Amino acid sequence: MPRPADWLRPAVRAVPPYTPGEQPAAERRVVKLNTNENPYPPSAAVLGALRDAVDDRVRLYPDPEATALRAAASRLYGIPVDHIMAGNGSDELLALLLRALVDPGERVAFPVPTYSLYETLVSVQGGELVEIPWPDDWSLPAGLAGAGAKLTFLCNPNSPSGTFVPTAEIEALARRIAGVLVVDEAYVDFAPSHALGLVGRLPNVVVLRTLSKSYSLAGLRVGLAFADPELLRGLRTVKDSYNVNRLSQAAATAALSDQETARANLERVRRTRARLSAALRALGYAVPDSAANFVLARRKGVEQGSIARALAARDILVRHFTSHGLGDALRISVGTDDEIDSLLAALGEVVRR
Ligand code: PMP
Repeated sequence: MPRPADWLRPAVRAVPPYTPGEQPAAERRVVKLNTNENPYPPSAAVLGALRDAVDDRVRLYPDPEATALRAAASRLYGIPVDHIMAGNGSDELLALLLRALVDPGERVAFPVPTYSLYETLVSVQGGELVEIPWPDDWSLPAGLAGAGAKLTFLCNPNSPSGTFVPTAEIEALARRIAGVLVVDEAYVDFAPSHALGLVGRLPNVVVLRTLSKSYSLAGLRVGLAFADPELLRGLRTVKDSYNVNRLSQAAATAALSDQETARANLERVRRTRARLSAALRALGYAVPDSAANFVLARRKGVEQGSIARALAARDILVRHFTSHGLGDALRISVGTDDEIDSLLAALGEVVRR
């Protein structure tokens, strides 16, 4: 008998599962600044829509096309519904893009460090990774356009740096490459502008959004893809028919329809982000200007793992990465003002020791 692992595809056997940030047990009270959730509750309309959706209709499958949700997105963003697809989080949409577009051996390029799920998905698909380091100033790497990739990912704002590439540069990149450019705008609502204006004008641009961050719906798993209808048709071919569940569709539709709540929460996050960045710089950290709901705090050459562990011992969770030279940095989500006060007080003590 072969060992169970021998049944796995070699590409799968070789890749460790993606490690998400720690999700502590519900009964543990922590200041949770490690996975970039929104610290504020979603719109009251979301909770109302969820309550209305909880009845015996749960025995029925959900709308496979997420029609109401896509119509709400179309109204909000001014993009035709046939250019919009919903996913079980934007993570699912990323996986569908790989499955639909990348054959084994084809190149997939992206600047690093970035969202590490890209690397996992490309490796599992058997694609060839072309990882191009961000320069020190986090400007778009010159080599990206010439990478010869079938698929190029640009996380904008980028995680974990929080830095932002202006839309004009994204358009220039899309025009130069022969393949598809996926602009992952998971955090773009916290940024000064976005790339949705390229969808429809440039057939090789896919823009991904999520309701996990700016709409406080991480627990419900809803993402949106904006792209040419022919590309989306390919994603539909490889998707699970009922990929977004009934409750999530109802909640997401309501969330998009209440812009006032989203805007108020965004404003609060932006204000706290400015205060957090300034305080971290005063503590001696280098912090690039962030356009997201998190910041990257770095002490060049000073390993930060022990700092992250000391904070965790005080029930404050931040993210520490070990790959791509990020060991000397902490990624800290923008929480409420009270949460950030707790973080700064604890970090001040830990750093002084
Ligand atoms: N893209 C980036 C850059 C992210 O950080 C995340 C969240 N971890 C996602 C996509 C996935 O978001 P979702 O919750 O919609 O799957």
